[in-house]
Amino acid sequence: MDISLVIPVYNEEESLGPLMEWIGRVMEENRFSYEAIFVDDGSTDASWEVVLRLKERFPAVRGIRFRRNYGKSPALYCGFDAAEGEVVITMDADLQDSPDEIPELYRMVVGEGYDLVSGWKRKRYDPVGKTWPSKFFNWTARRASGIDLHDFNCGLKAYRRKVVKSIEVYGEMHRFIPILAKQAGFRRIGEKVVQHRARQFGVSKFGWERMIKGYIDLLTVMFMTRFGRRPMYIFGGLGTVMFLIGLVITVWLIAEKLCLQGRGLPLRPVTDQPLFYIALLAVGLGVQTFLAGFIGEMVNRSAPERNRYLVDERL
Ligand code: UDP
Ligand code: MG
Repeated sequence: MDISLVIPVYNEEESLGPLMEWIGRVMEENRFSYEAIFVDDGSTDASWEVVLRLKERFPAVRGIRFRRNYGKSPALYCGFDAAEGEVVITMDADLQDSPDEIPELYRMVVGEGYDLVSGWKRKRYDPVGKTWPSKFFNWTARRASGIDLHDFNCGLKAYRRKVVKSIEVYGEMHRFIPILAKQAGFRRIGEKVVQHRARQFGVSKFGWERMIKGYIDLLTVMFMTRFGRRPMYIFGGLGTVMFLIGLVITVWLIAEKLCLQGRGLPLRPVTDQPLFYIALLAVGLGVQTFLAGFIGEMVNRSAPERNRYLVDERL
């Protein structure tokens, strides 16, 4: 099979019909063999009934229905798990992404050898309240990850099958799939300018909280990449530095006191000296940080993935 489309759906009843007709048209014109996997993320409207009806008209339609709403990332995860095509393409169900992009995305993966091609909504049809924060977000993600993409969170992306089978999206990590892919060792990450359209039916499913969650997730992803397997490298390092600072100050305070005492000069009580409190804090925090590292290492030791390596080929 050439292409698996993975389409997360949450209350998009009006869009699904026109979307599938459009997809069917594009696929037929290009003679692709394909499947369209609709993952119904606990919709409370008639989305699932629409998928059932579409299945009768289009044999390529497959469906997965969640019992409740879990989020876009879990929907993508299950879609990826089920996908059988050589190239896996994700797109939003709300008709904001154009199926006309499919042939070119497919060609970039198969013909040009990209592992992942991300859409770039250069001209976006969304409210300013969404586009500006998104620009800032993308800038940070670019700096933090070293991946040169303009639009990390674009719903329209194409992957070599191997890629989606090697990464695990959860929580709200769909915004960082390119980073996850890079971590998994897929380096050929490309970008294609794609058409974007205004939402015709229904409402956006993400509110202002997306920004807060987006940033927290970015921090987590970056932390996990660098220290996920060896938490002691960061916590142990920081803890040691802090502890040493505290130790040096303490030694200094004691030495100073002994010195003054030896010469019979007047002594200041330690509680009158700011340095004493700094030393106290540094030692306390240092030990705590160090312990956090040990706990991290212990958690890691029992993590099921601790010895999971992504093998590309074997002879
Ligand atoms: N979506 C989903 N589960 C959710 C939220 C969204 O499956 O909990 C789907 C939604 O149906 C759409 C896609 O994810 O197909 C993108 O959502 P939306 O269009 O609301 O995001 P925006 O375009 O506003 O970024
Ligand atoms: Mg949308």
